[in-house]
Amino acid sequence: MNRGYLFATLFVICFFSFPRFVHAQRTETQDNEIQVVKQDGMNLIIPEDGRIDSHHIVVTQSTPTHNYWCGLFSNLPTDTATVIGFSLADSSTHRQAANVSKWDGHPGLVPVMSYSDPTKYETYIWYSKNDKGWWSSDIFSKDRFAGTGTLPEQQSVPREVATQFLSQDGKYFSCWREVDDEESVTTLNIFRIKHRYKLPTAIVGMRIPYTYTYEQAYIDKLRTSKFPGVKVSIDDIGITPEKREMRAIRIDNSALNNDNPEHKTVVVIAREHANEQDSSFTLQGVLSSLLSSDASAARVLKNTTWIFIPIEDVDGAFNSRFDDITDCFARANDPSISSEVFAYARYFAAYINGGNTIDAVVSFHCTEAKESPNMFSPFIDRQHKEDVKNINQAFFFCA
Ligand SMILES: [Zn+2]
Repeated sequence: MNRGYLFATLFVICFFSFPRFVHAQRTETQDNEIQVVKQDGMNLIIPEDGRIDSHHIVVTQSTPTHNYWCGLFSNLPTDTATVIGFSLADSSTHRQAANVSKWDGHPGLVPVMSYSDPTKYETYIWYSKNDKGWWSSDIFSKDRFAGTGTLPEQQSVPREVATQFLSQDGKYFSCWREVDDEESVTTLNIFRIKHRYKLPTAIVGMRIPYTYTYEQAYIDKLRTSKFPGVKVSIDDIGITPEKREMRAIRIDNSALNNDNPEHKTVVVIAREHANEQDSSFTLQGVLSSLLSSDASAARVLKNTTWIFIPIEDVDGAFNSRFDDITDCFARANDPSISSEVFAYARYFAAYINGGNTIDAVVSFHCTEAKESPNMFSPFIDRQHKEDVKNINQAFFFCA
């Protein structure tokens, strides 16, 4: 088929891979000071002089990423509010300046926090309530009914703090919420987050992290689930330099005939820029729609194969780096090119040599700051419903 399309595709393609589950490892703890816990996808560290007092710390990023940041903290005091000052000093990347004014006053970009375990699939399920009761978002669950109480029946958010995660109208619940208070101190290039923690261990981040660990759990569920009329295949693309697996999710109509001259393929990719978390959630939303028994999903799947790559830059995502590989797709005869690039090239070349075409490619990004138009995810912007609706409508009507 069209090799021009293939190579155009490879320039924008992202990828991903999977390691085994990574369990949190505590750093050395002294006294009862606030600590950062090492974790997949998180990038905050407390520098040597970062502990101002028992209720005030300054953090910075372990690697320059210019926008996204997230950390898992332990030993947080619970008696009164704690201030986390996030300095963006030295966090500029070769393409983007790190500047807190990019967040200042932008709707929908208040930092979020959670007490739930970020290594667990269930931490990313949310619940909505209608006149019949609570319903889980988990597409893999056979029974999504979650009770009729004030709170949904769930195991991820500890009972003693669960009411904090209920929306104001009482009809939405997730493991994530916005922090109590935040301000961007543009004169100092510092982001200041003030929150009263109810439990001593919590995640705080600019956005909800879509980690490699979570992606792995999601794909494991996909592999063992059945959806009426839909065939789900998991393709192994390769192994990253840090030994994580790169995989694609292929969705077909189960009655699809690849020899049909009208057969087309759409490729959807997220995380070419490894820290742009919302792009993976958006991709997952498209994928979930195709797996539904909705008539419009059946129409979209007719004669069309969809290939999804939820995290293109797997090692970058795991280590919370911004951009490891984008430029590599455009360089020739350079021995320093990362092996993932060749793995992607082999995968798509084999797909086309198998008699298929690639007819459209979408690479989702999300700046997570106001440096350019943003894509909002309903999952994490429930408090800005109009922005979510308007931006998604603008995007999909133009797409
Ligand atoms: Zn990007």
